[in-house]
Amino acid sequence: MAPTNPQQKPPFERILIVGAGPSGLLLALLLAQANIPSLVLESWSTLDTRLRATQYGVPATRIFRRAGLLPDFRAASIPKFPAICWRRVADGEKLIEIDMSVVEDEEDRMTVLQLGIIIQIMYRHCMERFGAEGTEGKGLIEVRFENRVVGTGQGGDKAWVDVEVGEEKRKERIEADYVVGCDGASSAVRRSLFGKEWPGKTWDCRFIVQNVFYDGFEKHGWDGGNYMIDKDHWGLIAKRGHGGLWRVTYGDPEVGLTDEEYLARRPWHMKAMLPGHPDPGEYRIEQTNLYNIHNRCVPSFKVGRILLAADAAHCCNPMGGYGCMSACLDVGGLADCLIGYHTGQASEEILQTYADVRREIFLKYIDARSVKNLERVSLTDPWTVLETDKFFGIIQELNKDESKGKLKEFLLKISSIEYDFTKHYDKVPAKADGETNGHVNGALKPTTVTV
Ligand SMILES: Cc1cc2nc3c(=O)[nH]c(=O)nc-3n(C[C@H](O)[C@H](O)[C@H](O)COP(=O)(O)OP(=O)(O)OC[C@H]3O[C@@H](n4cnc5c(N)ncnc54)[C@H](O)[C@@H]3O)c2cc1C
Repeated sequence: MAPTNPQQKPPFERILIVGAGPSGLLLALLLAQANIPSLVLESWSTLDTRLRATQYGVPATRIFRRAGLLPDFRAASIPKFPAICWRRVADGEKLIEIDMSVVEDEEDRMTVLQLGIIIQIMYRHCMERFGAEGTEGKGLIEVRFENRVVGTGQGGDKAWVDVEVGEEKRKERIEADYVVGCDGASSAVRRSLFGKEWPGKTWDCRFIVQNVFYDGFEKHGWDGGNYMIDKDHWGLIAKRGHGGLWRVTYGDPEVGLTDEEYLARRPWHMKAMLPGHPDPGEYRIEQTNLYNIHNRCVPSFKVGRILLAADAAHCCNPMGGYGCMSACLDVGGLADCLIGYHTGQASEEILQTYADVRREIFLKYIDARSVKNLERVSLTDPWTVLETDKFFGIIQELNKDESKGKLKEFLLKISSIEYDFTKHYDKVPAKADGETNGHVNGALKPTTVTV
């Protein structure tokens, strides 16, 4: 998209993005598609392939499609993800199910793929399409590894980051028109703006995540995603990859143990949660990561020329897959705001609109729903939850429709967590075919509960 008046100099040259995680790389891609250059600084020497996200709801898929990533994501993913269900751990009983096969032919259906693979594909797109030797725009994206941001500042018409480069921690200051902190939950950019202030809570548990191979899943007829309801053994067990790869995640309610002590308790959790109640010799664990989990949000997503997005601004517990999905929606929205400003279709104020709207959506919908999701699996009575839980009531109603039309509509409709910032452009360029450029109109009105 060219500036409205080609004589006019764009109001900024390049965006500095801190963090080469999903939000940082996706933002760089979306900006490059609009001819806006960015520099991405990553503290590690490689991409982060720890076990974290694996599923991204329809709203995130729509952004992946806009960024041209979807065909590669689908090719790397398992071909079918038939259902999501909720089970009682005590007897393994399936309480309720959402039939995901109703959307299996829809381009925008949920994406299922390990985050480690997602970011490797994102990085390849950044380099092959927009890197120095790229096909679509030479050098629009530069990614520098081993560049740890340790501070930020701003003054006049510039912002800057202070960086430690390489193993020798050589000090460097890099200036830009705008800095966007996409540097995750322990964000140095956020800390440079707000210190330790990050209102919210850390949950009283340790969250243990592992890739597991176990033939008992198939033998016992398990497939798709299985939310497990129990006070001691809550979590999500889901088919995630080729060759029988499953992801088993659970929260251990014990507090204050060492990681070794948590892992010593793992056979107890696995025996209770997995079908067939196996002993350690009956399954193989390939990789494990342990986390503390939080629901937190920063006081503001923008301070002058420094903006925050995704986990750097807010984070939520993983139940329901809201974290990376909202990260994608943040950077999809921010990209639209920066593009509108860069092309002269919006004033700088649109960046404040980004900050205000995405924060409001996080607090009003994403935070609240992710808390509900965690409480549903960890606090409710598994013997009565089917009758008492409002969300289960909605699913039960939808499942009464034998044509499955209502369920399909429910799964694909525009969610209240999506928001089209192009409606704040002063002038939206008309498209001959009347399409909306893949954007979603008028969020904050319709509601979808994303599972
Ligand atoms: C166990 C688990 C399961 C999850 N499951 C899901 C799921 O199924 N679906 C979902 O939507 N979400 C899920 N999430 C959440 C999701 O993983 C995060 O929301 C997402 O990774 C956030 O992306 P990000 O780019 O904001 O941050 P990150 O992924 O944390 O990336 C930040 C990047 O910034 C770099 N960085 C950090 N500090 C600096 C610095 N000072 N200087 C330079 N670079 C820096 C880091 O090295 C990293 O590469 C899960 C999370 C966990 C822990």
